[in-house]
Amino acid sequence: ITFSDFDLHPDVLKAVTAAGYTKPTPIQAQAIPVVMAGHDVMAAAQTGTGKTAGFALPIINALMPLASHSASPARHPVRALIIAPTRELADQIHDNVKTYIQFTPLRSTAVFGGVDMNPQTQALRGGVEILIATPGRLLDHVQQKSVNLSQVQLLVLDEADRMLDMGFLPDIQRIINLLSPRRQNLMFSATFSDEIRKLAKRFLNEPKLIEV
Ligand code: AMP
Repeated sequence: ITFSDFDLHPDVLKAVTAAGYTKPTPIQAQAIPVVMAGHDVMAAAQTGTGKTAGFALPIINALMPLASHSASPARHPVRALIIAPTRELADQIHDNVKTYIQFTPLRSTAVFGGVDMNPQTQALRGGVEILIATPGRLLDHVQQKSVNLSQVQLLVLDEADRMLDMGFLPDIQRIINLLSPRRQNLMFSATFSDEIRKLAKRFLNEPKLIEV
């Protein structure tokens, strides 16, 4: 199996090649077709398995028909929201996403706590299709009306087990309440604990289970 087997947009495939990826990892081989088919996903995968590309590539691919060359922020609403527990992880996901969208008109940014809000606000106001965020800082930006989440059609909860451990469940619930019910949900976790299964029941619709 190769990346060409997935029927990805040529600009996405080009970025995969530029990144030096030759063969999909096991999580990618399983997740990419399932996400492309539009299913919700519950995946057990550790960092280092290539899980980021496993969700980012099919998400970017799904957004390609909506990608606009317009400079108008209104033409770049947030369509994919990736929630991560820490600044480090959000940053790392954003680095990957930037690589994968480099040949497309799609835009991305990351917002997380511990740093000045203003540059983040500017980036949000410019319009981004892909937003990577930690829960608390995202809610701060929502409260300041710097971002509108009503057009989010893809939601990723990355390292969901860590987010539960860190007490982010109420924030995540608040964020999800702002989204349209018509969306695809992907949840990644290092473990399948009872707590994670409960979270999956609450937020996912008939999820496909992926374990590597
Ligand atoms: P992740 O588990 O998503 O943090 O990815 C771990 C590392 O593997 C990152 O540096 C990725 O750029 C890299 N990577 C992801 N997919 C592939 C692939 N198919 N081939 C080679 N490297 C990859």
